[in-house]
Amino acid sequence: MKARKYLVSPGQRFGFWEVIERAPVYIGSPKALCRCICGRLRDVQISHLLDGTSRSCGCARRIKTVEEYLEKKFRVKPKIQVKAPSTEKLYKMWLNLKQGRGGAPLCAEWQTYHNFKTWALKTRYTEGKHTHTLVRIDPNRGYEPDNCQWQ
Ligand SMILES: [Zn+2]
Repeated sequence: MKARKYLVSPGQRFGFWEVIERAPVYIGSPKALCRCICGRLRDVQISHLLDGTSRSCGCARRIKTVEEYLEKKFRVKPKIQVKAPSTEKLYKMWLNLKQGRGGAPLCAEWQTYHNFKTWALKTRYTEGKHTHTLVRIDPNRGYEPDNCQWQ
């Protein structure tokens, strides 16, 4: 029987196809009803399943393995980290001072944001919705730890 080599059984997998059932009557080339990994059902020529010509309905053309397909489909994008608004406010303030928009020079210690932030948190700057204004005690001096306070 020549047709025997075309036999496939339900449950067999060929690429992204899973055989659901063999076509009951062979008309022309024998076919099997298959379900693609994406869910589409189609009658696929059995010889194409066996020789690998047909691996999916077309949805997985550039994908090599089932694992790769699933990974692409269900990959969860990493969440973007957002700075707390209050912290961001402090950072913007520091950036303005660093760029000379405070009307006076920024001391060497505060050239580093970390140092400025540490000082800010130690001296009444609270993370929250408060509006803080940094003022210089002696207007003839620049922005430095012992010449600034919050208002
Ligand atoms: Zn498909």
